[in-house]
Amino acid sequence: MTIETIFWTQIASILGFLVTLFVLYRILVEQKEATIQTQKENIAYLKDQLAEAKSQSPDILAQKLANRVKLFEDEVKRLESDKSSTEEQIKAKEAELHNARTEAENLTKQVLSARELLSDFQCPHCGAPLAVREYHSELVEYQGREIDVEHDHSAYECGYSVVDGKPNSPCKGKRSRGVSAVVSA
Ligand SMILES: [Zn+2]
Repeated sequence: MTIETIFWTQIASILGFLVTLFVLYRILVEQKEATIQTQKENIAYLKDQLAEAKSQSPDILAQKLANRVKLFEDEVKRLESDKSSTEEQIKAKEAELHNARTEAENLTKQVLSARELLSDFQCPHCGAPLAVREYHSELVEYQGREIDVEHDHSAYECGYSVVDGKPNSPCKGKRSRGVSAVVSA
């Protein structure tokens, strides 16, 4: 083996090594891009889901129903003022209006009762969710006897807390509470 042969063999193996490295690098980059792409798709999917969940929330449903009631009301008014519309047309629209209104009222009742159930788990001032609820009992001596005293502690995400039914720290929340889209019938 001449010096020259050894030299070229070394060059070839170095080149081979570089090519392998480059190929590996490409594969890694492609995998990374594919992962990023998948993540992007996941995020888009989750965003869609969130938008859908938001559009299905009771408030928005109630709002949609309220809008429908309004539409029907307008239509009934229009039919009444329109001389050519028949009595039957008006009656049919009035029936539709009545149904939509009943539906809206029922939904409002459901939303209100759900709120009431939830209210125990929300800050009474701002509606922030409950963060901690703990119960513990304490043994205290009372007139020579040991008795169990129950304590409870509730803390909300806004800072409001209640100890044994008495406010313990103030609410720092800004979110306003209240039932939107209550349908007035
Ligand atoms: Zn609060």
